Amino acid sequence: MRFQSGRQSISRFLDKIEVVQMAYTSPCWKWTASTDAAGYSRFGANGERYAHRFSYAFFIGDIPDGCHVDHLCNYRTCVNPLHLEAVLPAVNWKRRDEKRTHCVNGHEFTLKNTHPSTNGRICKTCRYDRIKAWRERHPEHSRTVETASKQRWRLAQAKAGRTGRY
Ligand SMILES: [Zn+2]
Ligand SMILES: [Zn+2]
Repeated sequence: MRFQSGRQSISRFLDKIEVVQMAYTSPCWKWTASTDAAGYSRFGANGERYAHRFSYAFFIGDIPDGCHVDHLCNYRTCVNPLHLEAVLPAVNWKRRDEKRTHCVNGHEFTLKNTHPSTNGRICKTCRYDRIKAWRERHPEHSRTVETASKQRWRLAQAKAGRTGRY
């Protein structure tokens, strides 16, 4: 995709920018052509419909699938590639994750089988399988790791004033 229609679209693009110093550390490239209702710069080229996305794809590289191009300078009409960052839409991703009923390996996300995490849910069956596989591959380490983690746990119990056999 990069440099596909080359010189023509880039000169068309550069014709429409104005370099202005906004609040960010380096000058913004203000888009002087049309913007959409939300204030994002419109520009059709290389399969993109927005100037900031075109700018990112042209100067930085391909935008990974499903990524948004965010403004580090918080200035929506800016198209300076150095002020742009391709990010995964965390909110959308989380929503999509919540819709899944099974993990990638087909285990159901029941309450008992689900471990919550900030990056989406973790399948406990898969996690257990991975630990088991690791133990089988590294029998010599598994004992050390287990002993160490048990000791840590016992120490924490003792510190918390809990006694007894564990
Ligand atoms: Zn900017
Ligand atoms: Zn699973």
